[in-house]
Amino acid sequence: MKALITGGAGFVGSHLTDHLIAQGHEVTVLDDLSTGQLSNLSDALDGPNGARVSMVEGSITDAALVDEMVAQVDTVFHLAAAVGVFTIQTKTLDSMRVNLHGTETVLDAAHRHGARFLLTSTSEVYGKNTAIGLHEDADRIIGSPLKSRWSYAEAKALDEAFTHQYVVHLGLAAVMVRMFNTVGPRQSGRYGMVLPRLVKQALAGEPLTVYGTGNQSRCFGHVGDVVPALATLIETDAAIGQVFNIGNPEQVSINELAERIIAKTGSASPIVHLPYLEAYGPGYEDMERRVPDCSRLHDLIGFTPTHSLDDSIEAVIDDQFDQVGLSADQSIAG
Ligand code: UDP
Repeated sequence: MKALITGGAGFVGSHLTDHLIAQGHEVTVLDDLSTGQLSNLSDALDGPNGARVSMVEGSITDAALVDEMVAQVDTVFHLAAAVGVFTIQTKTLDSMRVNLHGTETVLDAAHRHGARFLLTSTSEVYGKNTAIGLHEDADRIIGSPLKSRWSYAEAKALDEAFTHQYVVHLGLAAVMVRMFNTVGPRQSGRYGMVLPRLVKQALAGEPLTVYGTGNQSRCFGHVGDVVPALATLIETDAAIGQVFNIGNPEQVSINELAERIIAKTGSASPIVHLPYLEAYGPGYEDMERRVPDCSRLHDLIGFTPTHSLDDSIEAVIDDQFDQVGLSADQSIAG
């Protein structure tokens, strides 16, 4: 495979880069480094397979650059997007431009150059549907598009609709995945993501900020389970034209997540509850829970998550310890 990974310097994209080059593929990364970081690619660029990776700094909204880069590959993993609830809340217009126009630009180039295409969409498209086990055909329950969270959900849903039409009407070989909350080493808490944020607070001895009641729950999938599935899907002919949930159905409330983090780090930090208004400003709506049904992915490629929630929490703690130079053994209390 000669692959282009848009957003390849991001959290998931950099792990996908590592995975593909380890499998003998060639990877070119296109990333504007807005939320991605060059350091995420250090293992790939400086490792034994470094000759098979290259990185170009640029935007997916730059049609000429995208065209030039897609022309050189046979496969496109489209991960570049505005990510994180804080980003979406504070840079809503830019987020929509990247997530709508950027995706259309990459999609169109993939079509013109005959490349296979994988779109990373999101569980946000289900909105406030609280079904335990959201199936890919589940109804979307979405608030006003004037609220930034739902404008994000709408943009990603339109990305899917666009991709689907490129498959149906233009014969593009494309597959779509809806990623549920994904965690692991390298994920930054700067843009919202709760697990790395709370771990950072626990390690710094600061209060863990739980928003709302903390009774809302999430399911966290480990990036090490997600990435191989993306690579397999794009090479699976029967996946073309379909959308797949990907995640881990193990639920945890945010209160319990904070408690587990405190126990595992041995932190003396307290847990504080902050109202959503204080955390995100006006116009924010949360969802009570979001649980994936991954049976479609299981049935097609045998997908089964191998990392438990505790594995994921420990991986994030170890990663943050590594960043400050402490060993993994010192990081986990009990
Ligand atoms: N959250 C929290 N404290 C934080 C960051 C997030 O309690 O410091 C909550 C957030 O309100 C949501 C959950 O954790 O209920 C997951 O948030 P995240 O932004 O990680 O993902 P998403 O809301 O997109 O699932």
